[in-house]
Amino acid sequence: MITRFAPSLTGFLHMGHVLHMIYVWGLARKLGAQVLCRIEDHDLSRARPEYEIAIFQTLEWLGFFPDLGISGPDEKPSEFRQSDGSEFYQSVLDVLEKRGLVYGCACTRKQIAETQPDGAQELCYSGTCADKELPLEGNTVRFRTLENETIFEDLKLGKQCQIPWLQCGDFSLRDRQGQWTYQFACVCDDIRHGVDLVVRGEDILFSTARQIQLFQTLEKPAPRYFHHPLIVDNTGQKLSKRQRSESISQLRESGISSEEVIGRAAHLGGLISEFFPVSAEEAMGMISLPDNN
Ligand SMILES: [Zn+2]
Repeated sequence: MITRFAPSLTGFLHMGHVLHMIYVWGLARKLGAQVLCRIEDHDLSRARPEYEIAIFQTLEWLGFFPDLGISGPDEKPSEFRQSDGSEFYQSVLDVLEKRGLVYGCACTRKQIAETQPDGAQELCYSGTCADKELPLEGNTVRFRTLENETIFEDLKLGKQCQIPWLQCGDFSLRDRQGQWTYQFACVCDDIRHGVDLVVRGEDILFSTARQIQLFQTLEKPAPRYFHHPLIVDNTGQKLSKRQRSESISQLRESGISSEEVIGRAAHLGGLISEFFPVSAEEAMGMISLPDNN
């Protein structure tokens, strides 16, 4: 079994990432899985090399060691870095195109936003360009979302039912500038890397079914999913801006020990009721599956 730690290169790692590491490595330990590290730098406009250097320094300092995948910022090119994955993503897109499952869309975000009902959770595309036969190049590439509901069993949260067709409509795989989207790159990578256990925060639970639809369409087994709780404050709000801006590298420079950082993340994430310093090894032992698994 293979799970993955797949940070995006959009900022420095913070406490939320440390809690995530505890879950990824803890679940891997519990289920006998290996942890694969890949760098999600599909968003080339935001990726910065110093973020990648800091990721590997932080992992080593905290004591979370990947078993597979990319092991340092010097490995280039790498099949474990999304910026090097274009050829593979294109080959998957070609398969979908041959089967008539994608189309080009010329609508702008503003045009789509104007058609939304008040209070919509996210933009839902109504399929304006679905039958226009526009070229894929130079347009947003959209996937013909299935209309049926997708049901899956989350290892943490139990049975889930989502209908992407109602949530987001035909979602995009590549934008008009040629940038691959998170949903598509992520599914392609999980296929080529053999990932069969996905551990991630429950803030992205809502988008799981669209990934499962892509796996099913490509006739690949979808991984098992475990969506873990996030760090929240007393009012139930997600990690504050201040906490997000406090990078682990900065905490390290201020003289805090790695055990204090892990202990703080475990405490903020509700794994321990009182704060105390915790090693990576001890933290991994705190993760368990609900009784029904
Ligand atoms: Zn359109």
